Amino acid sequence: MGGPKIRDEAAIVALGLPSEMAVSTMPLTGPPVTLCLRVLATSDLHAHILPWDYHADRPSDTRGLSRVAGLIEIARAKAGNVLLLDNGDFLHGSPLGDFVVQAVPRPDHPMITAMNRLGYDAATLGNHEFSHGIDLLCQSLGAAQFPVVSANLRHHGEERFFLPPYAILDRKMADTSGTPHPLRIGVIGFLPPQTVIWERAHLQGRLEAQDIVNTAKALVPELRAQGVDLVIALSHSGIGTGDDSGGDENASLALAAVEGIDAVIAGHTHEVFPINSGAAALHGRPAVMPGFFGSHLGVIDLTLEKSGAAGWQVVAHRAEARPIAGRDAVSGQAVALVGGQPEIEDLAAPLHAALKAQGDRVVGQTLFPLHSYLALVTESSALRLVAEAQADHLRLSLQGTTLGDLPLVSAVAPFKAGGRGGPENYTDIPAGSVTERHVADLYLHPNRLVALRVTGQDLADWLERSVSLFHQIAPGARDADLVDPDFPSFNFDMIYGLGYQIDLSQPARFEAKGRLVNPAARRIVGLCHQGKPVDPKASFLLATNSYRVSGGAGFPACTSGPPAYSSAQSISDILRGYVARKGSIRINPMAPPQWKLAALHGTSAILRAAPAAARHLAEVAALHPEPLDLQADGYQRFRLHL
Ligand code: MN
Ligand code: MG
Repeated sequence: MGGPKIRDEAAIVALGLPSEMAVSTMPLTGPPVTLCLRVLATSDLHAHILPWDYHADRPSDTRGLSRVAGLIEIARAKAGNVLLLDNGDFLHGSPLGDFVVQAVPRPDHPMITAMNRLGYDAATLGNHEFSHGIDLLCQSLGAAQFPVVSANLRHHGEERFFLPPYAILDRKMADTSGTPHPLRIGVIGFLPPQTVIWERAHLQGRLEAQDIVNTAKALVPELRAQGVDLVIALSHSGIGTGDDSGGDENASLALAAVEGIDAVIAGHTHEVFPINSGAAALHGRPAVMPGFFGSHLGVIDLTLEKSGAAGWQVVAHRAEARPIAGRDAVSGQAVALVGGQPEIEDLAAPLHAALKAQGDRVVGQTLFPLHSYLALVTESSALRLVAEAQADHLRLSLQGTTLGDLPLVSAVAPFKAGGRGGPENYTDIPAGSVTERHVADLYLHPNRLVALRVTGQDLADWLERSVSLFHQIAPGARDADLVDPDFPSFNFDMIYGLGYQIDLSQPARFEAKGRLVNPAARRIVGLCHQGKPVDPKASFLLATNSYRVSGGAGFPACTSGPPAYSSAQSISDILRGYVARKGSIRINPMAPPQWKLAALHGTSAILRAAPAAARHLAEVAALHPEPLDLQADGYQRFRLHL
């Protein structure tokens, strides 16, 4: 799968300049000295070493550290002084990352081996690093030949940091005339403080996280006091609004304003920043966010100047997110812009082969295709299967208890519905065998099943939170944009077992992050259970998951009390068991859906979806779908008549 390029290994590990170069003695006066430093950064690699999509079981030109390695080689060749940094979420959160932990005996994490080989200078942790527990993480990090820092994570109830909060890199770097100088670079790392909530199962009572900006305000002066010339912040956190309301998940903009920070690497939200290269900055500090899964390499070029006895100053900067792939203008398909590095690919080859073999194992059969192409506008067979498996598990587990007598409904959201993941980011399982790979594709995250005892009113509010995904659409509008791109589809819960319609002429009750913005607004109409209107005071048992109940997304009723039930198994294990026990899954995608978009006569809206959605338009025949043009980012527009 790799390109033909063979690289010189010495070039990968070379850091700074050869050590025999003498270090200059700075003159106390004279013209300023200029030095150029290039900072390269990856973020949110999620153990994607190879250009491969494990869920779809096909090559992918938009991911893989082996391809980024090609960009690293090019970027290093064009600059004398280079640092290579990673911004977290590098070890887990993908099939290969999860598979590493099952291997017996467990190998060194191939991601760490690859990063050692590429000569990373430092890295920080993301929230996903903890998904298999602290002990396993420490074991993986033990093999790293570069410092891994994390400034806002401490041992529970102690001052002691979990990892060193920052690292000081002492390098010799040549100025523009070739004269080497010692340069001390401070690298400090941050992750979202919510990590301890999301990973409560592993972290409760063991680690505590602090606010990103406050931590920086306390520690950056301490770091500068150690004589560093430059401070680079590795911020596993989105750009955010810059408000700094305290404890923010996405704090990179606010962080950039902290005195003493010279450059910011952002991440976590899987976005690309800047979109156009140039003097991109947050609060005047150069910043970059290099996409996800290895889609981009972040490049920040700093020009430093020093005159007399004064310290180095950043006098100019430039930032760029370089993609590993472009898009074919006609087909919308991703096109590789760089070859893979065979020696990086070889590192992952044994695990890759074993993972593929495991993925091919047949669990059961499906009579109809299971896909998520239209999951934002109608019922999805793939999601219905997950909802049924959740409900089935609860029914069996609660049989004979008082909870078992409550009406049971099951909430699921599409993890793969395009969005920032691109037009390849859908579930597409043909009729026939359901394999281990398909099970992993149907339920990506390591969540457990949780049941909540809720009221009919809670269910209505829950759905309002979900359907705030849509833009408000004026009756009679033509080709209105349907979906708010800032609203992640993993927060679009549908509740199976309930019938309802979604009236898009009404404003959204919540904004994308879950803040209540229109308390009077209601989009859910005709909410019913088994054909009868839902009584707001009636009791229900709602199947949901551990992530939802951790409270991150602001779903009402999540935080009102302890869950009625919590499974020991993961939902993907429950799903695997369900498919195996049923043997044959019969979910007809043409069956009448329980929920739909309410009719708005004479109104049309645009859904952006994968071109492959065109094969399934019969499922939304009631919306008289029309395929329109293919766009530069690979999505196709579909007109729906509401
Ligand atoms: Mn991530
Ligand atoms: Mg993250």
